[in-house]
Amino acid sequence: MNIVLLGAPGAGKGTQAAKLVEEYELPHISTGDMLRAAVKEGTPLGKKAKSFMDAGDLVPDDVIIGLVTERLQSKDTEKGFILDGFPRTSAQAVALDAELSKLERPLDAALLIDVDSEVIVGRLTSRRMCKDCGYIGTAADATCPKCGGEMYQRDDDNEATVRNRLDVYEKSTAPLIDYYRGCDLLVAIDGDRDPDVVYADVKKSLGL
Ligand code: AMP
Repeated sequence: MNIVLLGAPGAGKGTQAAKLVEEYELPHISTGDMLRAAVKEGTPLGKKAKSFMDAGDLVPDDVIIGLVTERLQSKDTEKGFILDGFPRTSAQAVALDAELSKLERPLDAALLIDVDSEVIVGRLTSRRMCKDCGYIGTAADATCPKCGGEMYQRDDDNEATVRNRLDVYEKSTAPLIDYYRGCDLLVAIDGDRDPDVVYADVKKSLGL
């Protein structure tokens, strides 16, 4: 199962990916997580990406395409993968198609988690993540309900940056919805519901 997750930041892609990964044991390729790890480690990639991420802008295509292309060479992706946060531009989508056709592993679906942008602003500004296990919770979680770890707010989850990220999404990423519809790969899900209800719909729509 080779899947691309589409949807605005905060639509619930990470949450749904985590559920799919747990149930189907597929690698979760989140470019946001990969970049945040690079920033934390202070690698050259992290240093290059940090200012774009802090502003809510996209990291340049060549940087991110190289990162994902390399990740797709790993053996663990042969059984399938969940791509979360990539592609985000037409150039990335075209590069992904080219790489997957080279690997003879075409996409099975582009899953769109659809949520209204005002709902997203509320969700993201109250979103908190676990420092230890990456669990995604809310400001109501004093500690991680999964592992007891410390919860923190991402640097880019403040309102001004969130609004910029939504603008960037509309301009650069939303056109990919039509792109994947044209390839007959688009599966759209209403993401403004309880995560477990959304997940049941995700599985049904993917025929799982
Ligand atoms: P995310 O965790 O997916 O919301 O990503 C956090 C930030 O990482 C984004 O706001 C971008 O700055 C950067 N980023 C993640 N994925 C990509 C991508 N595919 N293309 C460009 N920038 C990305």
